[in-house]
Amino acid sequence: MTTNQDLYETARDLMPGGVNSPVRAFGSVGGVPVSMVGGEGAYLTDAEGQQYVDLVGSWGPALLGHKHPAVIEAVHRAVDTGLGFGTSHPAEAKLAQLVRQRVPGAQMIRMVSTGTEATMTAIRLARGATGKNIVVKFAGCYHGHSDGLLAAAGSGVATLGLPGSAGVTAAQASETIVIEYNDRSALEQVFAEHGENIAAVITEATPANMGVVPPQEGFNAFIREITTRHGALMIFDEVMTGFRITEAGYWGASGRVEGWEPDIFTFGKVIGGGLPTAALAGRREIMEHLAPTGPVYHAGTLSGNPVAMAAGIATLENADAAVYQHIDEKSQVVADALSAALTDAGVDHTLQKVGSLFSVAFGTSQTGVHNYAEAQAQESFRYGPFFHSMLEQGVYLPPSVFEAWFLSAAHDDAAIGRILEALPAAAHAAAQ
Ligand code: PLP
Repeated sequence: MTTNQDLYETARDLMPGGVNSPVRAFGSVGGVPVSMVGGEGAYLTDAEGQQYVDLVGSWGPALLGHKHPAVIEAVHRAVDTGLGFGTSHPAEAKLAQLVRQRVPGAQMIRMVSTGTEATMTAIRLARGATGKNIVVKFAGCYHGHSDGLLAAAGSGVATLGLPGSAGVTAAQASETIVIEYNDRSALEQVFAEHGENIAAVITEATPANMGVVPPQEGFNAFIREITTRHGALMIFDEVMTGFRITEAGYWGASGRVEGWEPDIFTFGKVIGGGLPTAALAGRREIMEHLAPTGPVYHAGTLSGNPVAMAAGIATLENADAAVYQHIDEKSQVVADALSAALTDAGVDHTLQKVGSLFSVAFGTSQTGVHNYAEAQAQESFRYGPFFHSMLEQGVYLPPSVFEAWFLSAAHDDAAIGRILEALPAAAHAAAQ
């Protein structure tokens, strides 16, 4: 039998760190990365035939669970008509329509292939539409790996403990101003000093790449207000949250209900249903700055790929209210059990949660976690033993304390039961 170890050795020889995306390398939790060979519903199976309850969900896309029959069937049907034509085709508008039905502010949409491409293009669009240069981002928010957005980024950059990335020039970084999340006075100060040159503020709808960090009451609305006041755009990065959580996003409490909308949204993950699709969207007059109607260039050989569109359409068509209710309820059950197990084991922690997205931050109960500095100050060394205990008991967690846990519609009582059973021993491992 080929073991995970064998596969890792081969991969390390062929690919930097043996991976194609850094967090998969188990750098912060140690040990040999697991090579998965199949996924079905709430479960993944590795190369050694071990089965795991999956709480990574392909890092977000697997809202309906792995191999959802409607998604697989739609993909098969699309494949049967061809893999791509390099032309327009009907499925592009169909997915765009599904997005706009749920997000009325997404009046026009441009499909791209990754979340990175969506935010990178959104920044270019904001600069092109406003004629200004500076972008403000929040420390610990991750918006993909385009040069200007890597400063103090969350996700893998946080996991590896990097301030940013080598290879990003000072000139590129100098046009990104980074401030702490949830800090209104820092935002006010930045606008007081640079207001005339700020093209956009980019923020995660609710940050989930430094662990989950809820926006303080009214923080997103404040970003909306201050950007409008200074003629800057607000880019709402919904790559992780879009079509997954209903609380912090455009259709929830901080969006439509409060009566405001961002200028540009970015989506990814769920809208591709597991295949490479992402999008930027927004008001017509802004979106029409994009080529070919406007001067801001964006293009993509694989943009709007028909197989990816089919997966996205089938996913959104099946993501009804019952799906969200199920994921919300089950997430609450797991989050409560996680917190209870840690408390029983005497592990100081904060359970960070917005909607169905949650994570744990160790040793933070005095302060909670409201920003990147607090997220980084946690006792992250406790996560490795916790992670490996869960893995040994057949539960696959994100291999970094800075990543959110993802449930799906396929997490039934049996899958949830396996997670709950594993938590006490993992909590004790974290206590050491
Ligand atoms: N924006 C957010 C909020 C994300 O969470 C991510 C990825 O995790 C991205 C952008 C980048 O997306 P991708 O990995 O598809 O490039």
